[in-house]
Amino acid sequence: MSPSAVTAAIYCRISKDRAGGGLGVARQEQDCREIAASLGWDISRVYVDNDISAYSGKPRPSYRELLEAMRAGHVQAVIAWHTDRLHRSPLELEEYIDISEKGGITTQTVKAGELDLSTPSGRAVARTLGAWARYESEHKSERGKRKQLQLATAGKFTGGPIPYGWEMVGKVPVIVEGDAVEIRKAVNSIIAGASIGSIVRDLNARGVLTRRGQVWTSTSVRNLVMRPTNAGLSSYHGEILGASVFPPIVSEDQWRTASAIVKDPSRRSAFDSKVKHLLAGMLRCGTCGGAMKTSSRMQGTSSRTTSHYYKCITRGDGHSFQTAAPVEDLVSKVTVAHLENQQSQGKMSFPDDEAKLAKLRTEALTLRGRLDESANSFADGIITAKQLETITTRVREQLDKTTASMSALGHGSPLPPPNVANIRDWWAAVGIERQRAIIDSIMAIYVDPIRKSAPRTFDPERIRIEWKTA
Ligand SMILES: [Zn+2]
Repeated sequence: MSPSAVTAAIYCRISKDRAGGGLGVARQEQDCREIAASLGWDISRVYVDNDISAYSGKPRPSYRELLEAMRAGHVQAVIAWHTDRLHRSPLELEEYIDISEKGGITTQTVKAGELDLSTPSGRAVARTLGAWARYESEHKSERGKRKQLQLATAGKFTGGPIPYGWEMVGKVPVIVEGDAVEIRKAVNSIIAGASIGSIVRDLNARGVLTRRGQVWTSTSVRNLVMRPTNAGLSSYHGEILGASVFPPIVSEDQWRTASAIVKDPSRRSAFDSKVKHLLAGMLRCGTCGGAMKTSSRMQGTSSRTTSHYYKCITRGDGHSFQTAAPVEDLVSKVTVAHLENQQSQGKMSFPDDEAKLAKLRTEALTLRGRLDESANSFADGIITAKQLETITTRVREQLDKTTASMSALGHGSPLPPPNVANIRDWWAAVGIERQRAIIDSIMAIYVDPIRKSAPRTFDPERIRIEWKTA
């Protein structure tokens, strides 16, 4: 702890029966810690109460301890997820105000910002918007509202089997690290160009089982990769509603990119008829400019080796013919050298895309926050169901546009990410589909025919590479 920093306490309360109340204590704490970090505050202690029955006035031992610490001058600030976590009644609020005022203690909340209890107007606002108002309004039409809230409020875990990757500790979902490693591996493999099938084979070969103890199938792996829960997002009928109670395992960018790749039909058909030849469809005949197609034939009669060729679709003398291995090797080497060169010159970073992505990410967060806020306003009776619907529709339209732009950027460039340490290793591991995409994005390749008198050995001079300018 730095001596000058503000000493703050975090208070979390688990309560099940309120709007957003299913929010796990781990998530509450995480959000509170982020606020502390942004303000440069030191956390002295995290106080947690398990208070399922919010209305009963059940004692909260940790809350009492927090008040004692505040009275004793051990904390200068309190961070809570929402004011309604701190006080449940006007009486509790008055007590809290009294202690805060005497000790000059600041209160910060994740949802409602700073709670200004030092001025009369600030205290009046706290009293007016205090937690009890929520309870009263919710009590009135508890059953009907609860049903709609389940749809409108994001992030509630409504029961059913716990998804692969998490387990419930008490009422709180926490990450199972071993499972999370598999999820990250699968998502990253998809982004790197691996097929669903190769992930299925890898998981099953290592004896990794599904949540229900079964072997993996293409469908279960596809579903695993595409779950919004992976990025800590909750969804309803395929629509992203907001933050989930499940802590995220991969970033939202990673999840969107992997999902977009899995969803893309052209991509899926590429899995089914997997390309075997690195340069299939990419070589052109140096004589006529026509595409060269791949073919194979057994070498000799006794040998079982198969040789692969590229040859011009136009038959006859003067059109190109090329054995596959040497030209594939040459093009790979040229590509790796080119990428290394670009990287060393700092030309392979994507400052524009990165900045755009960051902007879109912020925008998406803001829009999700707005959805969350309007659901809360509805729960509080501040807006009507009709108004909620109008706001929700409008915000979701914007959110759709934003997320579409995010996925477009997410897999817009096939080039290696700027932080790759060793291009050569990356190239060797990245898979043929990504290699092909890179080659196709940077060069056109012409193969000149072999002269009648030329020796049978491979002559790199016959391969003419034309760079595609960006
Ligand atoms: Zn030709």
